Amino acid sequence: MADEHSNPQASSGADLEEAIAALRARLRGALIQPGDDGYDGARLIWNGMFDKKPALIARCSGTADVIDAVNFARENGMLTAVRGGGHNSAGSGSCDGGILIDLSAMNAVHVDPKTRRARVQGGATWGDFDREAQVHGLATPGGVVSATGVGGLTLAGGIGWLRGKYGLSLDNLVSVDIVTADGVLRTASESENGDLFWAVRGGGGNFGVITSFEFQVHPVGPTVMLLLPIYRAEDGPRVMRAWRDFMATAPDEIGGALVEYSIIPEDPEYPEETWGAKVIAVAGVWAGPADEGERAVQPLRELAEPLLDFSGQMTYCEVQQLYDGLFPKGVHHAYFKSLYLNGFDDAMIDEIALRCADPPSDLTLISVWYMGAATARVAGDATAFGDRDMGWMLSIDGIWEDAADDEKNLAWARAFWADMKHHSNGRAYLNFAGLGEEGEELVRTSYGAANYERLAALKAKYDPTNLFRLNQNIRPGVYTKGP
Ligand SMILES: Cc1cc2nc3c(=O)[nH]c(=O)nc-3n(C[C@H](O)[C@H](O)[C@H](O)COP(=O)(O)OP(=O)(O)OC[C@H]3O[C@@H](n4cnc5c(N)ncnc54)[C@H](O)[C@@H]3O)c2cc1C
Repeated sequence: MADEHSNPQASSGADLEEAIAALRARLRGALIQPGDDGYDGARLIWNGMFDKKPALIARCSGTADVIDAVNFARENGMLTAVRGGGHNSAGSGSCDGGILIDLSAMNAVHVDPKTRRARVQGGATWGDFDREAQVHGLATPGGVVSATGVGGLTLAGGIGWLRGKYGLSLDNLVSVDIVTADGVLRTASESENGDLFWAVRGGGGNFGVITSFEFQVHPVGPTVMLLLPIYRAEDGPRVMRAWRDFMATAPDEIGGALVEYSIIPEDPEYPEETWGAKVIAVAGVWAGPADEGERAVQPLRELAEPLLDFSGQMTYCEVQQLYDGLFPKGVHHAYFKSLYLNGFDDAMIDEIALRCADPPSDLTLISVWYMGAATARVAGDATAFGDRDMGWMLSIDGIWEDAADDEKNLAWARAFWADMKHHSNGRAYLNFAGLGEEGEELVRTSYGAANYERLAALKAKYDPTNLFRLNQNIRPGVYTKGP
């Protein structure tokens, strides 16, 4: 994450008060300040580790409000945060003392089944999107929790159940409407502002505020086959090996699968005798006819003796909300860190299994996501996201409840990540980049040098003063070769 120092040119005193009054008069949405009713609710973000207090929250009602908020932020040198669904685990969806451009009221979705296109406002969640798209039996790859924002998830990648068949969320973008740092509304697509369109597909929130996303959508469901056998953790090495071997020849329809270590919670959804058991799940959704999927995934339900098996046919919207209850907003403390692995060999499997035998919290989740099939077929320079040759992603999701346990959980996740680094080229998924503590180094490595340089030049073109810096920040720079 970039430093949070406010611009030295920042307005203050009477000038600032006047500018705030003018902004309030122009906005159709609310301008919320400390002490106002609803301030605490409006500043809440998903990761309970953060308690950020913006000086202003501009809850925009539409594009005109976003333009005014961006102009205000730039002209008054305000530290600026942008919030879509508020789920960024590094807490970038808010700030201390600056202005938060809050898009949560901009959550409309319109799906055209004839053109197979969906228009989604910048603050919509995947739950908003899926509900509307499923009216027509359509979907596009999102994430695996419905409360996450379309905005942050898509702009840095978008890794969900449908990726094996249809790629990352950003691979399905057709165009965006974006308010850049100069307060200008631009459309970016392959045919219009193509450089900006390249940059937003992976460049996160660096290039402006997206007021509207246009996606292509695909026939999915309404009934799909969910794969979810849960094995005992002691069978982990055997399960991971067999899953890895299965994925080597698996059809694209199940190419969005993952394995995940967890501990069964004390929750009536699970039989009481399983509470507290350390387990490994194999999870996936068949992106095709449910009956076909039921037959095709059967071998993955027999990798060992399952402790439980939640596999079965259900609606796509049900699948998308399956994990929601595990991730309540503003409650848990979290640290999500990832690494793309150089393959998934036996040594890695054994190291992961060893770590997962002793997690620091009952809420810790460790998963390995398959990143082949359609995800891997996009050229590394086709979008800003970078190379697609990673094959597998390790995701270390530190989650815990008590602030007193912050240090223990952070240390455990960081040590695990550091120890696994020799199995990787050092690249991470930037939506799971911890607290951004490696700064530019991890960002640059993750994009790859060539993409990073191109991004830096585009940042200089569209956001020369780095107004949008509370993100996986790309510093404005110079690029001398290529388009
Ligand atoms: C419980 C949970 C589950 C998750 N599951 C998945 C998953 O399955 N797959 C996956 O890929 N990721 C997943 N993530 C990670 C997720 O993609 C990131 O946390 C992402 O940043 C969330 O987007 P958001 O809009 O909700 O977040 P916010 O905190 O609102 O935004 C994050 C950043 O994105 C930018 N941004 C957001 N909206 C806009 C916009 N409209 N215009 C410009 N910039 C914008 C801003 O820079 C902002 O700081 C998960 C995270 C959580 C907490």
